[in-house]
Amino acid sequence: MTAAPLPHATILGYPRIGRRRELKRAVESFWAGRITEAQLIETASELRAATRARLVELGLPAAGGAVPESFSFYDQVLDATLALSAIPERFAGATGSDLGTYFTLARGDEQHQPLEMTKWFDTNYHYSVPEIDERTPFAANPAQLLTQLAEAAEAGIESRPVLVGPVTYLLLAKAADGAADGFDPVDRLDEVTAVYAEILSALAAAGATWVQLDEPALVSDSLRTSREDTLALVERAYAVLGAASTAGEAPARPQILITAPYGDSSRALARLGALPVEAVQADLVRGTLPAAALADGSLARAFAGTQLVAGVVDGRNIWRTDLRAAFATLTTLAEAGVETVVGTSNSLQHVPHDVADEQKLDARLKSWLAFADQKVAQVAVLARGLAEGAASIEEDLAEVDRVLADRAAAPGVRIDDIRSQVAAAGDADRNRASEEDRREAQRGLGIPQLATTTIGSFPQTGEIRKARSAFVKGEIDEQAYEGFLEAEIERVIRLQEEIGLDVLVHGEAERNDMVQYFAELLDGFAVTEHGWVQSYGSRATRPSILWGDVSRPAPMTVRWSAFAQSLTERPVKGMLTGPVTILAWSFVRDDQPLGDTASQVALALRGEIADLVDAGITIVQVDEPALRELLPLDRERQAAYLDWSVGSFRLATGGAAPEVQIHTHLCYSEFGEIIDAVDGLDADVTSIEAARSRMDVVEPLGNHGYSRGIGPGVYDIHSPRVPGVDEQTELIRIAAARIPGEQLWVNPDCGLKTRGYDETVASLTNLVLAAKAVRAGA
Ligand code: GLN
Ligand code: ZN
Repeated sequence: MTAAPLPHATILGYPRIGRRRELKRAVESFWAGRITEAQLIETASELRAATRARLVELGLPAAGGAVPESFSFYDQVLDATLALSAIPERFAGATGSDLGTYFTLARGDEQHQPLEMTKWFDTNYHYSVPEIDERTPFAANPAQLLTQLAEAAEAGIESRPVLVGPVTYLLLAKAADGAADGFDPVDRLDEVTAVYAEILSALAAAGATWVQLDEPALVSDSLRTSREDTLALVERAYAVLGAASTAGEAPARPQILITAPYGDSSRALARLGALPVEAVQADLVRGTLPAAALADGSLARAFAGTQLVAGVVDGRNIWRTDLRAAFATLTTLAEAGVETVVGTSNSLQHVPHDVADEQKLDARLKSWLAFADQKVAQVAVLARGLAEGAASIEEDLAEVDRVLADRAAAPGVRIDDIRSQVAAAGDADRNRASEEDRREAQRGLGIPQLATTTIGSFPQTGEIRKARSAFVKGEIDEQAYEGFLEAEIERVIRLQEEIGLDVLVHGEAERNDMVQYFAELLDGFAVTEHGWVQSYGSRATRPSILWGDVSRPAPMTVRWSAFAQSLTERPVKGMLTGPVTILAWSFVRDDQPLGDTASQVALALRGEIADLVDAGITIVQVDEPALRELLPLDRERQAAYLDWSVGSFRLATGGAAPEVQIHTHLCYSEFGEIIDAVDGLDADVTSIEAARSRMDVVEPLGNHGYSRGIGPGVYDIHSPRVPGVDEQTELIRIAAARIPGEQLWVNPDCGLKTRGYDETVASLTNLVLAAKAVRAGA
């Protein structure tokens, strides 16, 4: 095959879990031993074949590398670890097939802790963190890439292998435990680049004409290098990779497409265009074009001989693209003399498969939506416009104009009353009484030092899930379901009393999910049937669609919290999900600033808190585990984000009287970057993850002058292991040495919904004993 430019249409990647989550089922069946490895491989291969055929059917050319090979059995970063054979030494004993090793790295086994998982850029997708040290072996293992390439060729499709690029790979890696002080995985860039070169040469030998190397590190200020340094690393690596020839009888590499999704690469773009690669992608939804370089012709000069894949179709949300605006951007580029290809802002792995699968969604709402398949079709339309001229797609543009106008004018999208309430909310509504007054007023709650509590959920048992699904299917009526939930709540309350916890929870048995539960009860949201999006490995979530102005037609949690409180003398915490987290884990409207949407959600929650307090609840927890996740990758945008996100939490909680105690929970422990924001939430008590880091997070908070309550987790809920009394006692003592005892709460790291009852009871019993031991010793 000979080197030819990319066709006018491409996407960066496509969902890989299958329209009906077939991959999830196959992978989990394999783990459970119900199917063989060969059967799993067969299912995966069928899914890939279906994906390629679908992409061609939707309008991506079969020839020329337009169809990406973005399949993954589990995670794309883990795929790169395998392709580099970068198996950490601690897995040396884990032998087996490639796929066996792969899953052991991902999930661990009896002898091995799995690779750590963490969030992929500012998305809710999690990747397996590579562990690299000075000795990590690197060797090219392109087997999986070659298999896919051959499969595609067999079907007559010239596809484009996809791999996380070398710079991003190493910047997402962490130094393995045994690495020398000061070692950074990126120190090994040159060696890793050499292995990438071998992989590329193997791909070229097998007939690949294009390869896609993803370098989202280029848009992030949250990595270990500055963006300028990241760009320099990219230049260093691609000078080497690009040096090999793409021409002649035996090309030494495929043509290279570098992508920079998830943010703004405008400042780097001209330098990327000047690299010895054949195409560069820019995210033009989150990012912009460098206006000056575009105007003075320097962008076009930098891109001479290099194609620009313009990511104008949004791969992060589910709205139909404003095709006219997108086409204008493409036209600007083409008129400036830049060789332009239509693309997506990022891989479509973050959106569901197909709107057409939704039978129950309101037809009008449905007409405004575009999932992965619709987005591919939009890319194809824009590409036709680029090739054949604007007139050739005028009908499509006009149709989208109509759809967007319909959306803007539809009932529920803008509700004057809600908008005036948001407009009327001022600083006073975001500020509670002084910390001192609140402390004083809350003495009446009678909460002891080192008060023990949990984060909210108790185990979601098979029984609970069964009852919920019976209710959803109409097999049991509302009365029976509510009776079941009340019995469950009563059981959880009695259990906590027996264990001796100080501040109780109702256990969240009524919630299918901490966001969807609220989305179903708030106006302005819709839920899908098949809108699954991979969150990690075989796990997927079904984000709700926030399409209109948000309001709360009726109380959402009061019934359950009030019932729980009626059963006990001890305080029961009301339990809400915060505005930022509700937004982060939903698909949000794109027709107004996120901050405006957050304020609407905040006002709804504010009403809920007032109703909870009226019903006799004295402590309310508002969870914000996604506060860190939505932090923009681009430092220049962070202050504005923190302003509205913290502001929305304060608007939600600002109506609480001084004697009402507001708690918040942030799952993670890495909030160095947002410590001011955590403080700015002004919650009376903040619980955080801390057990795995042995309370490392307490000290920075103390040094920061954090003066309100803090509950560093003393028990890691991510594993079924039961932490003993001594172990938890020690953690409490470490925390107590770093922060005054009267600020300290004792709780697990996170909610208990994924745990079983046996380990939960044992661990919480030990937690209470540990708190007592420290109190007695203090
Ligand atoms: N209250 C929630 C629970 O306990 C919090 C979960 C979370 O932060 N992810 O399940
Ligand atoms: Zn949590």
